[in-house]
Amino acid sequence: MNPQMEAEPVVKLEIPMRRNPLGKTFSYLLKESATLIDTGVPTREAMRALERQLQREGFKPGSLERVILTHLHVDHMGLAERLSALGVEIWASAQACERLEVLREESERFFDLLVEEAQAFGAQEYLAYVDSLRHLLPPTPPNLEVDQTIRDGQTINLPGATLKAIWTPGHAPEHLCLHWESQRILFSGDHVLPKITSHISLRPHQDQDPLADYLDSLGKVEGLDARIVHPGHQWSFENLAQRVKELRQHHRQRLEEIHRAIKGKERTVFQVASQVHWESRPWRQMDFWTKRMAAAETYAHLKHLENLGKAQSTLKNNTLRFTAL
Ligand SMILES: [Zn+2]
Repeated sequence: MNPQMEAEPVVKLEIPMRRNPLGKTFSYLLKESATLIDTGVPTREAMRALERQLQREGFKPGSLERVILTHLHVDHMGLAERLSALGVEIWASAQACERLEVLREESERFFDLLVEEAQAFGAQEYLAYVDSLRHLLPPTPPNLEVDQTIRDGQTINLPGATLKAIWTPGHAPEHLCLHWESQRILFSGDHVLPKITSHISLRPHQDQDPLADYLDSLGKVEGLDARIVHPGHQWSFENLAQRVKELRQHHRQRLEEIHRAIKGKERTVFQVASQVHWESRPWRQMDFWTKRMAAAETYAHLKHLENLGKAQSTLKNNTLRFTAL
């Protein structure tokens, strides 16, 4: 084995994620403390991949001491319930506990919220479709207990590793990055990814400004000393400050694009989203669920413009309309 590889204190595990264009997530094993950062999706295939790669390092899932979750999205916490059942401790941010509560409530009201959202976003052509889904089961909320909560700025002393927790809301309100200062490693979860931009979304029933949170949270990591950044997707990378700069630039341009789309006219969220240039595919080719994600991202930007005093919204017949100021 390459001696440099041997000296690397982190083992990167690839967990497959089918039916998602990203194809996989990364979990990171800190061997000395038997700690896993993030888990992957809750499928048998993912669990097998985790088991196989842990075994190669002399571990079994049940011999892990703890899992630290960067956030509660299913591709990161999906296997946490199974690991918890094997006696592995679940560690997550203090905000994750509140978020679990909210996710349970939202799941109970899932279809009502979906119909309200379609109305609020001006997705008239999908109203009958979303209304017809009511007989389906809502998505199951995570049934997870957090054993140990982590505060913003907390130093986590593990055998062989000291991690500083940095609360980085934006992509998710509970998102944590972990900085291993002595090794100059940042575990960035989905906060900073090497090529794609993190999904920043807002729903009409939420009274927040996740884009403001996200931009603030970029400020919390951009100056960190990191020789390498280990993200939740794509690949590990070195140029943290440069990447943060690009992400700020991306959101600045997107805000300008959206501001132009509502200049001198009143537009619904769906109308604005249809004008945005989407990297993945054109708006016209998106199915309802992809449009819904794009609209939630658009709404986060519209809300941020409104909070900056650059836009205003009105609510007529349960539909939001934005215009530039
Ligand atoms: Zn993710």
